[in-house]
Amino acid sequence: MTQTRAIIFETPGGPEVLKLVTREVGAPGPGELRIRHHACGLNYIDIYQRSGVYPMPLPQVPGMEGAGVVEAVGEGVTHLAVGDRVAYAAAPPGAYCDVRVMHAAQVCRLPDSIDFRTAAAMMLQGLTVQYLFHRTVPLKSGDTVLFHAAAGGVGLIACQWARAMGIRLIGTAGTDEKCALARAHGAAETINYEREDFVSRVRDLTEGRGVDVVMDSIGAATFDRSLDCLRPVGMMISFGNASGKVPPFDLSILGAKGSLQLTRPTLFTHIARHEDCQAMAAQLFGMVETGKVAIRIGQEFALADVAEAHRRMEARATTGSTILLP
Ligand code: NDP
Repeated sequence: MTQTRAIIFETPGGPEVLKLVTREVGAPGPGELRIRHHACGLNYIDIYQRSGVYPMPLPQVPGMEGAGVVEAVGEGVTHLAVGDRVAYAAAPPGAYCDVRVMHAAQVCRLPDSIDFRTAAAMMLQGLTVQYLFHRTVPLKSGDTVLFHAAAGGVGLIACQWARAMGIRLIGTAGTDEKCALARAHGAAETINYEREDFVSRVRDLTEGRGVDVVMDSIGAATFDRSLDCLRPVGMMISFGNASGKVPPFDLSILGAKGSLQLTRPTLFTHIARHEDCQAMAAQLFGMVETGKVAIRIGQEFALADVAEAHRRMEARATTGSTILLP
């Protein structure tokens, strides 16, 4: 048995429900491995799970992303060995700890050029951008995308990925500083949606036509107006709910607004198959190794200070990616 520190919550609630405990970690079973984290990633989904927006079994160790070294492998694990440097985004949660046992299928060997902090900051958000841009709609050079929260963790990766693909990304963000950050990372234009009407700005920027795709992770506060930004037969990708879940709505609205398309994807469908996950990660690593995407770690916290990290993220006081250091 190995001892680990872990963050748990026993009831849903605010950041104060997060507690540091010490627990035992056993040996990996078939198809599993034991990893010692050097860094873990913080993602907005951790907040949905902690607060009860996504109900979870309790008690729960949050965290869906980490990077570190393989300490032990179970029977049947062939793609990794003890001592390998690895990183992952994976369900179920359990990453807010020093050491964990987990299924090996979504764990990827890390190229030597990518350090652990960068890896922990990029796996979940980078794989998300990979599936949004390559597996959800057939995007191509010249397409125009409206991307909300463009200065966030997923957002800054999306700006750079779009630039590399020749996609015109119109980014929204809540402050002028965040808008400038998004432009510096490749957004073609930005809109401060706290003080500007993003629908009319998008119409102006597209000569009245509308964008080909909207990528909306804000949810309740933006959903209806995001639909108004699309061209006829455009695609609405609703992939998050930072402002609250989108309320149920009348599907005929999609017809009335121009035969719009709508999808509500999640990363965990796309990485469920080992082969898909490894191929997606290989593309992400390539984007980082060639310098097309630089991972911006906006904030770092000690594992024990995770409650403060959650507070900052919920207060919209973060930019880029956030990591926890065990
Ligand atoms: P971010 O770093 O982007 O943080 C969320 C951002 O949302 C904030 O910084 C803020 O930016 C914006 N925001 C707008 N309104 C609110 C609000 N009421 N409360 C809080 N934040 C608000 O987080 P991530 O990069 O981790 O994730 C981005 C989004 O993508 C999240 O909604 C997440 O759930 C979703 N996601 C979905 C996945 C999927 O597969 N479906 C996978 C990964 C992420 P600003 O101040 O500029 O508005």
